[in-house]
Amino acid sequence: MDTEVLVVGAGPTGLTLANELRVAGVPAVLVDRLAQRSTLSKAGGVQSRTQEAFDQRGLLEPLLATGNHPDGIAHFAGITLPLTRGRHRHPWRSIPQVVIEGFLEEHLAAQGIRVRRDHELTGLAQDEDGVTATFAGGGVIRSRYLVAADGGRSTVRSLLRAEFPGRPGTVTTVAADVRLSGDVPAMTHVQGDDGHWAALFPLGTDPQGRPLRRLSMGGPGRSLPRETPVTEDEIRDGLRAVFGSRVELLELRYARRITNAARQAAQYRHGRVFLAGDAAHVHLPIGAQGMNTGIQDALNLGWKLGAAVHGWAPEHLLGTYHAERHPVAAAVLRNVQAQSLLMDQQGTRDPDLLAAKDLFAALTHLRDVQYHLDDTLSGMGIRYPMPGDDQPLVGLPAPDLDLGPVRSHALLRSGRGLLIDPADRFAKVAGLWPDRVDRAGQGTGAEPMLVRPDGYVCWAGDPDTLEPALGHWFGEPR
Ligand SMILES: Cc1cc2nc3c(=O)[nH]c(=O)nc-3n(C[C@H](O)[C@H](O)[C@H](O)COP(=O)(O)OP(=O)(O)OC[C@H]3O[C@@H](n4cnc5c(N)ncnc54)[C@H](O)[C@@H]3O)c2cc1C
Repeated sequence: MDTEVLVVGAGPTGLTLANELRVAGVPAVLVDRLAQRSTLSKAGGVQSRTQEAFDQRGLLEPLLATGNHPDGIAHFAGITLPLTRGRHRHPWRSIPQVVIEGFLEEHLAAQGIRVRRDHELTGLAQDEDGVTATFAGGGVIRSRYLVAADGGRSTVRSLLRAEFPGRPGTVTTVAADVRLSGDVPAMTHVQGDDGHWAALFPLGTDPQGRPLRRLSMGGPGRSLPRETPVTEDEIRDGLRAVFGSRVELLELRYARRITNAARQAAQYRHGRVFLAGDAAHVHLPIGAQGMNTGIQDALNLGWKLGAAVHGWAPEHLLGTYHAERHPVAAAVLRNVQAQSLLMDQQGTRDPDLLAAKDLFAALTHLRDVQYHLDDTLSGMGIRYPMPGDDQPLVGLPAPDLDLGPVRSHALLRSGRGLLIDPADRFAKVAGLWPDRVDRAGQGTGAEPMLVRPDGYVCWAGDPDTLEPALGHWFGEPR
C-alpha cells in the first residue's frame, strides 16, 4: 500500500476528510486535479452544526479569525426564520467556500499534509485488499480505501458505474457575487408581477471592507443553456426587472448558471470505495446545504475509516456511513425541491403556486414551523438511527457540557470517543477501551452519555446497556 486512504478531490469534503483522518492518526493522501486551488467563492453559508463540528476540532476560532464573517438568519425559500435566532450556540454564518477551503488546506499543510495537485484520477480497480487508482500522466496510488470527494461530476462515481438516480435539470438560474449600490435588505427574495425574481444574501466583505452579496436571479425567458456565459448586461437587466432603478451593479466578481438537477447515489459504499459530498448528492444550491452536507459526510466517515484502518472497527461500522448519511442528503434534496418550487424559479406566477406560497408564508410565522425548518437548515436536528435511540439524546449531536475546567466539546479534539461519567461509576468498563474512549465529567452535574468521535451521542440512560454500546461503536475491548 502507498497509503491507507486515498481521498480524491480537495474541495470542502475532501479537505475535511483529510483532517479527520489526520485526527484519527491514519496515513492518507489527498489529491486534486487542479494545479491550484479554485478561487471561486461558491457556497456562502456555514450551518450551526458544521461550526460546532469545527469547534470540536479546535478549528472554529481560527476560521472565524480569517476575516469578517457576519452571522445571519437561516431562510427557507427566501422566507427568513427570525424566531430561530439565538437557538443554537453558533448562528448561521456567512463564510465563502473559498475561505473555508483555503483555511483547511493551510491547516493541513501546517500539519505536514499537502494536497497533491495536478493529480487527475482516470482509472480505478479494487480487489480484496485494496484499491489501485491511476492518474492522467501514468501515476499510480494503491490504498486500502478510497474516498470519492471529486464533486458533482465525479469521475470515481462514473468509473464505478454507480447508480445516480434523480432528475435532470429543468431550469437554469444565475448565481453571482456582486457589489451593489442602493438600499436593499441584506437578505431578500423579491418577485415582480411579471415573474422575474432576484434573491440577495450577504457574503461578507471584499478586502476593502465593502459588502459583497450573493445574487440569484431568474424568470421567464431567463433559463438559458448552462454553458451560456453570464454577462454584466444580463445581471443589470435582471436587477432592473426586479428593483427598478433602486439598485445598481457596481462590480460583478463571479457568475455562473446553475440548474435544479437533483440526484443522489443509490449506494454510498462500493466495496472499498466511498462516495462523499457532491459526488454522492447534487441539487440546486439553496441555503448553504450542499457544502455543509459534504463536510458532515466527511465527519461521519472519517473516524469510521480510522477504526477500520486501526483494525478495531466492528463489522457493521463502515456500513453505518450509508445508513446514516443517505437519509440526510435525501431530506436535503426534498427540501431544496420544495424551496425551488416555492421560489417560483421558472417565474410562472402560477396562481395555484402563489396560493400555496402565501399559505406557506403564513405558516412560517408559527414558531414551531420555524423550529421544524431550522432543525434541517442548521444541521442540528439531524438524528442518526442507532440502537438505544428511544432515549431522548441518542442519535443527536452531543450538548457542550460544562465539566468544570473544560467543556466536553473541547475534549473531542482527541478524535476519540468520550464517556461522560458524573457519578464516577464506569471507570472499569471504560478502561476496557483505553485507546478509543476517554472518560470525563466525574463530580459534575452532567448527564451520563457516550459520545462518538464525530460528536453524536451513542449511549445514554440505562447503565446496563453501556458495555454493549461501547462494543457496538468501538469494537472488541483491547
Ligand atoms: C454558484 C454556486 C453556489 C453555491 N452555493 C452554495 C451555498 O450557498 N451553500 C452550499 O452549501 N453549497 C453551495 N454550492 C454547492 C457547493 O459549492 C458544493 O456543494 C461543494 O463544493 C461540494 O463540495 P465537494 O468537496 O463535495 O465537491 P467540490 O467542491 O466540487 O470539490 C471536488 C474537487 O474534486 C476535484 N476533482 C474532480 N474530479 C477529479 C479527478 N478526476 N481527480 C482528482 N480531482 C478531481 C475538483 O478539482 C475539486 O477540487 C454552490 C455551488 C455553486 C457552483
